[in-house]
Amino acid sequence: MGRRSVKDLIEGLGVPHTEVDLVLVNGQSVDFSYRLSPGDRVSIYPVFEALDIAGVTAVRPQPLRLLRFLADVHLGRLAGYLRLAGFDTFYDNSWDDEQIAETAVREHRVLLTRDRGLLMRSVVTHGYLVRSHRPREQLREVLDRFDLWGSVRPLSRCSVCNVVVEAVEREKVVEKVAPRTAAHCEEFWLCPSCGRIYWQGAHYRSLMALLSSHSSSAETEGRPREPGPP
Ligand SMILES: [Zn+2]
Repeated sequence: MGRRSVKDLIEGLGVPHTEVDLVLVNGQSVDFSYRLSPGDRVSIYPVFEALDIAGVTAVRPQPLRLLRFLADVHLGRLAGYLRLAGFDTFYDNSWDDEQIAETAVREHRVLLTRDRGLLMRSVVTHGYLVRSHRPREQLREVLDRFDLWGSVRPLSRCSVCNVVVEAVEREKVVEKVAPRTAAHCEEFWLCPSCGRIYWQGAHYRSLMALLSSHSSSAETEGRPREPGPP
């Protein structure tokens, strides 16, 4: 009978291996394939985002510090919020689990999902199991987990295309927005992919209210933008 691997032990406890960043057996760092022996003392540590342990851990070749995301098919609203907060987030609700897992790996994206089974696929190296059902809570969770409150750039990315929006001269877009918006806003941004116009407004204020509920959200100023009319 073969001995159990560390990965099997961890996932047998219901913990996706993507939640684990460091495994020590008898005080030594090991990778997921390590086969356990009777009497081994195993210490399992969660993902360190605020502390770089690259020189210590053996569970994966390189820690993921380039934070880009891929949201699974059930997390469309979270994907939209992440984009509005400025984070590169892939989302396509037509993808199956295999496409999601493979794309996350190929693109070096953190896989966001509420499906433990998806994170337990061995190909997946970086993921996060989203706990909340509510999109705004989910955004808070992700910003907390990856220590991203200081990296928020509100409304700098198109919430539909995930493309970075570009500043555009007021004269070029002003007749395309509601007269009230045109009267109150000086700055506008344009999605080069879908043509949506963004400006500071109600959506921006709503996002800011959410972000300001966190104590270290003081750095969320920046280029305020508002999603344009649908
Ligand atoms: Zn767009």
